Amino acid sequence: MSAPASTQFPSLESALKHFFGYDEFRLDQRAVIETLLRHQDCLVVMPTGGGKSLCYQLPSLLRLGVMVVVSPLIALMQDQVDALRNNGVAATFLNSSLSLTEVREREKQLLDGTIKLLYVAPERLLSESFWPFLSRLQQQVGLSGFAIDEAHCVSEWGHDFRPEYRQLHRLRASFTDVPMMALTATATARVREDICNQLALQKPTVFVASFNRPNLYYEVLPKDRHAYAHLLGQLKAATGAGIVYCISRKRVEELAGRLQQDGIAALPYHAGLSDDTRRENQHRFIRDDVQVIVATIAFGMGINKPDVRLVAHYDLPRTLESYYQESGRAGRDGEPAHCTVYFSYGDVSLINYIIEQKADEQEQNIARQQLRQVLDYAESTVCRRQIQLSYFGEAFPGQCDRCDNCRHPKPLEDWTIDAQKFLSCVARCRERFGMAHIIDVLRGSQKKRILQLQHDQLSTYGIGKDRSAEEWKLLGRSLLHQGLVAETTDGFPVLKLNTASWQVLRKQLSVEVAIPENLKGVDTSSPETSGETAGLLAQLRSLRKRLADEQGIPPYIVFTESTLRQMAQKMPRSRSQFGRISGVGNRKLEQYGQIFVDTINTYCEEKGVQTTTPVSDRPPTVSNTRAQTLELYQAGHSLDEIAQARNLRRTTIVGHLSALLAAGEAIDLNDLVPPERQATIRQALENTDSPYLNAVRDYLGSDYSYDEIRLVQGALYGQQTRS
Ligand code: ADP
Ligand code: ZN
Repeated sequence: MSAPASTQFPSLESALKHFFGYDEFRLDQRAVIETLLRHQDCLVVMPTGGGKSLCYQLPSLLRLGVMVVVSPLIALMQDQVDALRNNGVAATFLNSSLSLTEVREREKQLLDGTIKLLYVAPERLLSESFWPFLSRLQQQVGLSGFAIDEAHCVSEWGHDFRPEYRQLHRLRASFTDVPMMALTATATARVREDICNQLALQKPTVFVASFNRPNLYYEVLPKDRHAYAHLLGQLKAATGAGIVYCISRKRVEELAGRLQQDGIAALPYHAGLSDDTRRENQHRFIRDDVQVIVATIAFGMGINKPDVRLVAHYDLPRTLESYYQESGRAGRDGEPAHCTVYFSYGDVSLINYIIEQKADEQEQNIARQQLRQVLDYAESTVCRRQIQLSYFGEAFPGQCDRCDNCRHPKPLEDWTIDAQKFLSCVARCRERFGMAHIIDVLRGSQKKRILQLQHDQLSTYGIGKDRSAEEWKLLGRSLLHQGLVAETTDGFPVLKLNTASWQVLRKQLSVEVAIPENLKGVDTSSPETSGETAGLLAQLRSLRKRLADEQGIPPYIVFTESTLRQMAQKMPRSRSQFGRISGVGNRKLEQYGQIFVDTINTYCEEKGVQTTTPVSDRPPTVSNTRAQTLELYQAGHSLDEIAQARNLRRTTIVGHLSALLAAGEAIDLNDLVPPERQATIRQALENTDSPYLNAVRDYLGSDYSYDEIRLVQGALYGQQTRS
C-alpha cells in the first residue's frame, strides 16, 4: 500500500509527473485535489477535455484505500481502466458486462487492498448486495473518496437525466467521513445547484472553470455547392481523426458513402445500425483504423478520444448547448483542432418544419428559441467564442483570434437603399410571396409565373438588376435576422412587413449588411513542422499504432498526440531526455522509453540530423496582430497613433488591448482608464452580470464609453481566470 503523499512525494507536482508524466496542473486541478485530500466535498465544473479525471485519480494514489468512481458510461470504463493500467495504476471496474466469476475475483482483489480505483455503474452501486460489500471494503481497506462523474445526470434540468442517480445521496448519508467529489461539464447554474442538493454534498466548494477552449478554431461556412469539396479538403489536410455530424440516418449514409468513394477511410454511425456494427465502427475509429466517423447525434457520449482534429456539422446543430458539447469532442488533448459548421437556409426550413410537427406548443416554443440561438451563432459577424460563452453566462471580451469572424472580420456596408427596394417590392407583391419570388421580381425575371401574375407590371420590377440573386439573398436574410422584415412560419415562408420595415421605408432606420468573404480553403493541418519533424512524427505514429495493437488498446493510451509531437520536435536521444517529455510518467518511461529512443536515434542517424536545441513547448499565447499592437503600445504610442499606423480602426486596437489584458499581458490599465472610473465600471459589470456590453453601457449611461468598458472587462477577465 502506498504511503501518504508527504513522505513519498515532496509535492503534488512530483506525484503528477511520476504517475501521469505531466509537469503542471491545469485550471483548478490542484485546488480540487487539495480539497479532496482535506476530506471536503466539492463540485467540479470543467469543460470536456479540461482534465476532470485527474482530479480524483491522483488523490486516489496518495491516500490509503479505494477511490470509488461512479460513472454511467459503461462503454468507457474499460478504456479508462486500460489507460490507468498503462500508467501503472491499479484500477478495475464492476459493471454488467462481467460474469459472476469475474465479479467475485475483482471483489477479492479489492478486499486484498491491491486496487486503488474502482469504477462502478450506478445500478450496481445502489443494488442491495453491493452495499454490504462497500461497508466491508471500508472497514478492511478504507475508502479514499467517492467521485460522481457526469453528475448532471441527477438533474432533470440537465440534458441526460437518469433517475437512479437520484439515489446516490444515500452514499453521503451512509459514509459520512468519506469525501465526495461531483464532476460535470454542464455549465448552467440551475444544474449546478441541483447537483449539490440532490447528492447532499456537505458544504461543497464549487469549482467552475472557464468554458473557453482556446485550442479550438470555430468557423461557419455556407453550405453551397463548394461545401462538399471543402469538407473533403479539410479531411484530407487534417493530421488526425474527424467526426462529421449529419441530421438524419439517410444523410449519414449518403455522406459516408461519398467520402469513401473519394478515398477517405470513413464509417457511418447512427441508431439504425445494429449494436454490433455500431460498436465495431466506434472501435475502429478509436483505434485509428479509420480516420472519420460520419454520425448522427447518437454518436459521442462515451467517446473520449483525445486526438480528434476536426468536428464538422454538415447539417445545422440543434441547440447551442449541444453544439458546444459536440464540437467540444475536438482537441481534447489541447492541440489545435477545427470546428466547422456548414450552414444553409434550407436546413433552417427543414428544422422549422420538424418543429411544426411537435404536438406540444411549449415544446415548439423552446425548440424555436433554440433554433434562433443557433441561427444567431451561425449568422453572427461577432466573435463566435463570445456568443458561445455568453450562452453559458461567461463574459468573454471577444477578439479571440481563433474564429473566422475574428480572423477575417466581415466589413459592414450600408445597404439602406437596396433594403428599401427590397421591402417596397414585398409591399407591391402584397406580402403574399417568399424571398425567391421577390428576388425574381427585383431582377426582372422572365419566368412564366411572374408574367402570369403580371408582376412584370409592378413598379419594382427589374429595379434590382445591378445586384446578383446571391446578393439579394444575403440582404433578405440579413433583414430577417435583424428583424427588419418578418416571415411566416407555417412551413410556407412568406415575407411580411413589420414596424421596423416601415421605419426603413420611411428612412428612419438605416441598414448595414455584413459582407462575407468568399468561401476559401482553410488550413486544418497542425502548426508548422519541418520535413524532418514530420517524417519522424509519422514513424512514431506507426510505432505507437503497432504497440497499441499488440496490447489491444487504443493508440492514444500509449501516448497522446501532443506527447508524440514533442518527441518529434525535441528528439530526445536518451532515456533521461525522453523522461522529460510531458506525458511520459515513470511507468511509460520503463515500458516504452527504450523502443522510442531507439527509433528516434535510428531516424536521426539515417537523416544525419543533429539534435536541435529544445523548442519551446507552448504555442505563442499572443497572436501576431495583437503582438504588433502590444509592441507599438509598449513603445509609448497612443491608441489613435497605433490605429493610424496599423491602418485599423481605433475600436479594433481597443479590442486587441482588451484581449491582451485578458491574456494577462503586462499592461497598466491605469494608463488607459482612470482608477475611479475603473471602479464604477467594475461595479457595473458585476451588477449587470451580462455578457453584453450594451447592457453595461445602458447601466452606466453615456458618460462612459464602450472602449473603457471593454478594457476594464478584459482586465477583469484576466484577473478572474488567473486568481
Ligand atoms: P475530461 O474528463 O474533463 O473531459 P480528461 O480527464 O479526459 O478530460 O482529460 C483530457 C486530456 O487532458 C487527457 O488526455 C488527459 O491526460 C490530459 N490532461 C489532464 N490533466 C493534464 C495536465 N495537468 N497536463 C497535461 N495534460 C493533462
Ligand atoms: Zn473570435
